[in-house]
Amino acid sequence: MLSKELKEALLGQKESFPDILGNDAAKKQLKSALLAERHVIIVGPPGIGKTTLAKNVAKLTLAKNVAKLLPPAEVIEGCEYHCSPKNPICPVCRQGKSKKSKTISGAERFIRIQGSPDLTAEDLLGDIDPVKALTFGSLSVEAFTPGKIFKANNGILFFDELNRCPEKLQNALLQALEEHHATLGSYDISVPTNFIFIGTMNPDDSSTEKLSDVFVDRFDFVYMDFPESLAVEKEIVREKGVKEDAVFSDELLTLAVGFVRSIRDDEKVEKKPSVRASLGIFERAQANCLLGKRKTVSYGDVEESIISVLAHRIRLKPSVKYLKPIKEFLRESFKKFAESFRETGQDGGSR
Ligand SMILES: [Zn+2]
Repeated sequence: MLSKELKEALLGQKESFPDILGNDAAKKQLKSALLAERHVIIVGPPGIGKTTLAKNVAKLTLAKNVAKLLPPAEVIEGCEYHCSPKNPICPVCRQGKSKKSKTISGAERFIRIQGSPDLTAEDLLGDIDPVKALTFGSLSVEAFTPGKIFKANNGILFFDELNRCPEKLQNALLQALEEHHATLGSYDISVPTNFIFIGTMNPDDSSTEKLSDVFVDRFDFVYMDFPESLAVEKEIVREKGVKEDAVFSDELLTLAVGFVRSIRDDEKVEKKPSVRASLGIFERAQANCLLGKRKTVSYGDVEESIISVLAHRIRLKPSVKYLKPIKEFLRESFKKFAESFRETGQDGGSR
């Protein structure tokens, strides 16, 4: 069950996910899904803050008056399952051997699993400790070392890039989430599902496993996208980007970020540049300015950063790729964008 504190935090606060600017629709969807105690997968392209959004559920914010969404919790000391004294789930705590409890922070209740093809069921569920097995017997519960799914008990299980892990593991996870038990070797393990599951995936990642229909049927998807407006993206860049001792005028930033957004919207472009590209240009143009021993970032500083920041972050559609090298495409596009920017005096028609 969802903790009272989390429920109150979701309902009470004006801004529950302060580290993510914009994407208000996605934030609302996530809140709604959490309130309804659904398993969630945040879906979207890389570099838009999926992980940050998920972490925000657990992470304390720096603002003093904003409560942590995932408050500290009381657990039984020494228990690897993070058992709560009121409702112990592991066999050892159930026997009531250990009574001492300690408090863990919200961050410690946030368990992260990085999806990868090498991930095993043992990572997720646990394994038999050979040394303990010698002492307690190989089939004893004491010999079992719990995996991450158990550590997430009473907290959040965050599964980053879910669709990168093998299909076999998806099935193990599904069994654990749905049936509350899992089979590992000769063990039949019962799994608590007193945790919130948040996954992420990039639907365009071609190196990944397809999630089966049976699997996705168990989740609600929260769709995140690139920042919805030029203004929001500029705000993100100003806030998250490294600021050197150089003045970056608002007009020039509109040009730089507006250009990245125009490339994103360009129908010739297959793989789109993320917010990291906007951040990259912001930081590199300042560095170019410093190298030029100047105090104010110039058009030339931005122009000089374009290829190095953007060329590897985008991919042109095959029909365009063979006619024009990517660097040439970028140089021409930037020139054209800057010209129309100067003519209209604004963002060159970009949003
Ligand atoms: Zn325990």
